[in-house]
Amino acid sequence: MFPIVESREIAKNVFFQKIQAPRIAKKRKAGQFLIIRKGEGGERIPLTIVDSDPIGGTVTIIYQVVGKSTAELSKMKAGEELQDVVGPLGLATHIENFGTVSVFAAASGRPRCSRSPLRSRMPATSWCPSSGRATRN
Ligand SMILES: Cc1cc2nc3c(=O)[nH]c(=O)nc-3n(C[C@H](O)[C@H](O)[C@H](O)COP(=O)(O)OP(=O)(O)OC[C@H]3O[C@@H](n4cnc5c(N)ncnc54)[C@H](O)[C@@H]3O)c2cc1C
Repeated sequence: MFPIVESREIAKNVFFQKIQAPRIAKKRKAGQFLIIRKGEGGERIPLTIVDSDPIGGTVTIIYQVVGKSTAELSKMKAGEELQDVVGPLGLATHIENFGTVSVFAAASGRPRCSRSPLRSRMPATSWCPSSGRATRN
């Protein structure tokens, strides 16, 4: 079982959840995703890993409620447990040192951009603009 350690709505219909999954948190790379199943008989849904804490053993997801399974997931509170969390899945994003880069994101892409492990590789002059406002990293 995989306990939810933090759960909150960060924008209308967009949810942030931190899940205890120590082995995944240690292995995951930028661009990989999880398959999550809330409980027995539930649907398996793919969600991108936005962030991870290898020391605390948590992975973070951010998703929009669009149908039954994301709606059910969004109602889960800290302390409740997910039946299955499988990952990290998918090919990691290819990362190279290109020097100074600009990252553009909006809506639910913005937290992914600003919380991404890519951020730690960006020079201080990089920007992460969203919704018309630039945010200095
Ligand atoms: C690799 C990968 C990573 C992903 N990462 C993220 C992520 O980080 N964040 C995120 O928000 N999403 C992500 N997604 C998308 C996410 O997996 C889906 O939004 C989720 O699986 C939807 O499940 P659901 O049961 O809530 O919705 P579903 O019930 O599957 O519904 C999906 C859509 O279909 C419509 N629909 C359903 N049934 C019908 C019907 N009978 N007639 C007409 N329309 C219908 C719904 O209204 C809805 O718009 C990712 C997907 C993939 C493949």
